Amino acid sequence: MEKNRIDRIETDFIKANQVELWMKREDLVHPIIAGNKWRKLFYNLAAAKAEGKTHLISFGGAYSNHIHAVAAAGPLYQLKTIGIIRGERPAVLNPTLQFAEKQGMLLHFVSRSVYRNKTTALEQLDLPLATSYILPEGGTNNLAIKGCQAIITSLTKPFDYYCVSCGTGGTIAGMVTALDNDSARQVLGFSALKGDFLQKEVATLMTSFNGRKYENWKINFDYHFGGYAKHTTELIEFMNAFKHRQSITLDPIYTGKMMYGIFDLIGKGYFPKGANILAIHTGGLQGLAGFQARFGALLT
Ligand SMILES: *Cc1c(COP(=O)(O)O)cnc(C)c1O
Repeated sequence: MEKNRIDRIETDFIKANQVELWMKREDLVHPIIAGNKWRKLFYNLAAAKAEGKTHLISFGGAYSNHIHAVAAAGPLYQLKTIGIIRGERPAVLNPTLQFAEKQGMLLHFVSRSVYRNKTTALEQLDLPLATSYILPEGGTNNLAIKGCQAIITSLTKPFDYYCVSCGTGGTIAGMVTALDNDSARQVLGFSALKGDFLQKEVATLMTSFNGRKYENWKINFDYHFGGYAKHTTELIEFMNAFKHRQSITLDPIYTGKMMYGIFDLIGKGYFPKGANILAIHTGGLQGLAGFQARFGALLT
């Protein structure tokens, strides 16, 4: 467990482009609940306890990092956990869901159409709603945003660019609000999803968080590799080369795509000479076993 580790990423390519690249190891901030999912749960778990709740309920796909994190948090906080999972129950559970059950999470599998309407899903299942703390899919709410501010406030020196992968946008919202419109500091998000709705959505998240508007951030939509959880050979080759050179494992859904994007933008001269760039390793490594099982050990 390393709360404040930052690794320098040094290659001839980066040197030749006259920028500095660093990586904040949020993947190491908690022994089981890796990365931003720990930041997002932190104040929510405290709230659940303070409100006297006995259960945590949340939603996710079968490989969800958030479901894995909620399941792990249960025994640590003496809360029972319930996961509402998109799709049919498979004959053999994947490693993410096996882990969740082992932590005591009760899994409810619901059809994709029921899953789409979370309120209906909650009503259809027999759940202890009155004593449950309900976390949204992906874990993003105001307390999650507050928790993600620590990604910035835990740093001991400033950077010119802060790069982070985006799914629901809660993590980047926390980072941007923590930087507080410091125009010398830019936050660059890399969307793990196809479609550019996130730019608007993150602005909305920040407005509902504190009513303020921020200028020093944007989301790049060029590195989703076909959409959420899609991959290409090029992405996998990049991730393998990065791991062998830096001894840092990336995940193919979020951090692999972001790092590919950062290297590509460095080569294109996106960052000015001398720029000090910090990439956030948001974790997600629990999903690797399931990815390898599905696609045939692509990651070496
Ligand atoms: C969930 C997740 C993200 C995206 O976080 P959001 O707050 O949903 O934008 C990024 N990286 C990893 C590894 C994640 O698990």
